[in-house]
Amino acid sequence: MNAPLTKPLTARQAQKSAFEANKLAKRLRREVGQAIADFNMIEAGDKVMVCLSGGKDSFALLDILLFLREHAPIAFDIVAVNLDQKQPGFPAEVLPDYLRSIDVPFHIENEDTYSIVKRVIPEGKTTCSLCSRLRRGVLYRVAGELGATRIALGHHRDDILQTLFLNMFFGGKLKSMPPKLVSDDGRNIVIRPLAYCRERDLEAWAAERAFPIIPCNLCGSQPNLQRQQVKQMLNDWDKRFPGRIETMFRSLANVVPSHLLDARLFDFAGLKASGTPDPEGDIAFDAPELPADLPQAVNFQDRES
Ligand code: SF4
Repeated sequence: MNAPLTKPLTARQAQKSAFEANKLAKRLRREVGQAIADFNMIEAGDKVMVCLSGGKDSFALLDILLFLREHAPIAFDIVAVNLDQKQPGFPAEVLPDYLRSIDVPFHIENEDTYSIVKRVIPEGKTTCSLCSRLRRGVLYRVAGELGATRIALGHHRDDILQTLFLNMFFGGKLKSMPPKLVSDDGRNIVIRPLAYCRERDLEAWAAERAFPIIPCNLCGSQPNLQRQQVKQMLNDWDKRFPGRIETMFRSLANVVPSHLLDARLFDFAGLKASGTPDPEGDIAFDAPELPADLPQAVNFQDRES
């Protein structure tokens, strides 16, 4: 008889592991509940279409929303939707089997966007932009057909920060991923309930719940190199300067248009001296003082590098 690959947990280890899993579950549910409340993502009577790709994030999104629905003070419906893009090797039964096993209403939309992308995009060129445009169009249509009033996507806090830096580095824009938006066809409200969740928590939750994850490289496309680099940069910062990621993320909800340079957001042209001292006002001549409790690792030298 073969020996087991891993040693069984001792009672103490099992207890610790259950405690950690419970803490993680509570944190994720609290963060999702908070994001939903902060941005009024879901209202009574909504039908939320959860887009399920087969990746860890969308599985976690569905799982957490199902829990919250049972405990929410308002009633709303959930329908899980997967778009089978006919990528070679896509295990078509995995998601339906899983969704049946947890008794969730679902819809699988079959549309061969893979062949279209392969036909239109020359070999060796990146396929993601056309592929996601086609996918978006199909999902908008399906939302209409299913009577969904919200489309929920599984982007998380790290996606939001990465997008912020990508837009700054390559797009010259101070712009990230909104937690809630009107879709580009003008007909759908798209929400990102995982906006406050850390990717590593979602990874841990996916392992804890043993979601049947489908690999995301079936299309054969290379990962987006720029996004990978930004992700690496943020992960490095997270290791070297604990707390920096959280502080940066907080800044997205704490914007001061008068201290940026966009004249469309602040009326610089119309500024007039009030003649009245303002203790909260700007000192103007000196660099702004940093809070006294700033982590040691964050100093001016670091800020300027
Ligand atoms: S990785 Fe593949 S499936 Fe995903 S968007 Fe790009 S081309 Fe489409």
